Amino acid sequence: MDILVYLENNNGKIHRISLEAVAAAQSLGSELGQSVGAIAIGEGAEILGAQASGLDIAEVLTVSGDQLNTYSADGYSAALAQIIESESPQYVFAGHSYQVRDFMPRVSAKMGIPFLSDNIAVRVENGFPLYTKQVFHAKLAADVTASSSPCIVSFQSAAFSSDAIESGTAAVRSVNVTLSDSDVRTSSEEPFQESEGGVDLSSADIIVAVGRGIGKEENLPMVEDLANALGAEIASSRPIVDSGWYEPFRQIGSSGQTVAPKLYIALGISGAIQHVVGMKGSKNVIAINKDPGAPIFELADFGVEGDILEIIPKLTEAINNAKS
Ligand SMILES: Cc1cc2nc3c(=O)[nH]c(=O)nc-3n(C[C@H](O)[C@H](O)[C@H](O)COP(=O)(O)OP(=O)(O)OC[C@H]3O[C@@H](n4cnc5c(N)ncnc54)[C@H](O)[C@@H]3O)c2cc1C
Repeated sequence: MDILVYLENNNGKIHRISLEAVAAAQSLGSELGQSVGAIAIGEGAEILGAQASGLDIAEVLTVSGDQLNTYSADGYSAALAQIIESESPQYVFAGHSYQVRDFMPRVSAKMGIPFLSDNIAVRVENGFPLYTKQVFHAKLAADVTASSSPCIVSFQSAAFSSDAIESGTAAVRSVNVTLSDSDVRTSSEEPFQESEGGVDLSSADIIVAVGRGIGKEENLPMVEDLANALGAEIASSRPIVDSGWYEPFRQIGSSGQTVAPKLYIALGISGAIQHVVGMKGSKNVIAINKDPGAPIFELADFGVEGDILEIIPKLTEAINNAKS
């Protein structure tokens, strides 16, 4: 296969960010006429393989073994390096998750191959893929390309939509790697939770996000009431976190989390680029802002020009009435 996508195990399911990487690979593969495959490593690889067999890709490889039962950066990097050697893909795609950040640089260093990390897009120019990544705190976008093959490429969360993924039938093949106990010299602690307090913003369907337009901390309960009425998670722009009103894990943006919910409601958020990069993958965006020129309206599917302090309580009441 020409493009090999790494499938990360997220509690027995293929991680959403890996499916986004599959969508990227399918799109690039069809443009370049190249075949796409996927690989799952470690305990549960077969379960992931079965899930991936419903994707429109050529083949899913599964790799397991005693040294891979629990995740370790050295074990996974050694295994993937062997697979890249034996299968000779031109490109290895992955979602830019914490795990990928942990072990993929080792694959790159071990094999002496390029790793283009954290890209937000890919397009074809002169028959070759050109990747886009954000630089200088997302103030600029740079085009990057690899001068040799194979190369590893990771994509930022929400750079591609997993909804764009093509279904089909893929063959599943179990492949062997040769690892010894001395290949695995580290052991990992429990996986890092991308969000704290039992709140997983990255998998929330509805997010109610609040910005500086809320005015003061005493006004936040009305936002929480709205979120409760909708069964939504609460997020915020950076000034709210900087003010100490919400914990940092609720911040969306270039220095916060990246999310892609079905519905993102932006309340009193101007739409600065550092915020937008964290939520532009949302399927639907509703923005309420009293400034008709606020940049958030440029990407909103539904925009309401008005005062959130008046609108939020009425909206909550209307939703609660509709439910009862
Ligand atoms: C390196 C760097 C990293 C950054 N990282 C992030 C990040 O990760 N996330 C992030 O969010 N920001 C980040 N920022 C900050 C970012 O540039 C913006 O300053 C920030 O997003 C603005 O937040 P805001 O929209 O809540 O506030 P503002 O820009 O002040 O906007 C408030 C909005 O509320 C509206 N408003 C005011 N009162 C009302 C009302 N009563 N009803 C309705 N609307 C009202 C106003 O019209 C305005 O549009 C970063 C900045 C830098 C330099």
